[in-house]
Amino acid sequence: MSKNPKTVLITGASSGIGEATALRLADDGHRLFLGARRTKRLEALVEQIETFGGTASLCRLDVADAEDVRCFVANAVHTYGGVDVMINNAGVMPLSALAEDKVDEWNRMIDVNIRGVLHGISAALPVMRARSSGHIVNVASIGAHEVEPTAAVYSATKFAVWAISEGLRKEQSGDIRVSVISPGVTESELAESISDTQARAAMREYRARAIPASAIADAIAFAIGQPPRWTSTRSSCGPPPPRTNHTQPDPSDETALVV
Ligand code: NDP
Repeated sequence: MSKNPKTVLITGASSGIGEATALRLADDGHRLFLGARRTKRLEALVEQIETFGGTASLCRLDVADAEDVRCFVANAVHTYGGVDVMINNAGVMPLSALAEDKVDEWNRMIDVNIRGVLHGISAALPVMRARSSGHIVNVASIGAHEVEPTAAVYSATKFAVWAISEGLRKEQSGDIRVSVISPGVTESELAESISDTQARAAMREYRARAIPASAIADAIAFAIGQPPRWTSTRSSCGPPPPRTNHTQPDPSDETALVV
């Protein structure tokens, strides 16, 4: 249980990493304000949190719509009186080779993964600056640091999330903290948005080594729990690289977390 309960907003809380983070932070005693488009899923999550004595509210949210995100943050301020932490987590990953020319899917990734994060910053930063305190946590990806075939546009959006986070961190005096978490392959519904048959099959194999979403929730909880003025834009967490036949498994290697 945190000695310093905070009001935490999470975008994309209806499944995967966002949902696991909501459960973990509620368990730590934080007040949650949860957003996504599938409100039935959010309602079930709020009920689950309240059942174990936690505090959570929800609001329908499309992060691609700047006005929606402004309302989301305004509703959280109205409900809890402020915003301590904004977690820009919502994301989509319809992978495909560039030659497949899936322009609509490229635009959707740009709208959700880049514009969604910028909308979150635009809505939450003035509220935080007015109080000279706050923490913005952006969920990027290991795809923010390396590019694989079929992931050119997805990685481009995540490179952008990393760049935006690093720029924001350097622009703020230290009163506003900035963290970017870069998950590796993690159990979630993310690959379900892949319409390209080959990319979907390749991703199914790749995701066989996924770590649980709760591991990323732990990394986010760690970042939130650090003292004031602590910032990080280099937190990568994911499964260890595949082993060769010559190495013995190391039980401490379950999850790699670099801060
Ligand atoms: P999920 O698909 O399980 O979750 C994605 C979440 O984003 C859902 O809650 C979804 O809610 C929400 N979302 C999608 N589009 C919108 C939108 N327009 N407006 C609001 N919410 C939206 O995947 P993950 O949990 O894996 O993804 C979370 C983040 O983690 C993403 O940014 C992803 O890129 C990143 N990531 C994940 C990795 C993984 O291996 N799982 C690896 C690296 C990074 P709804 O559909 O209800 O709106």
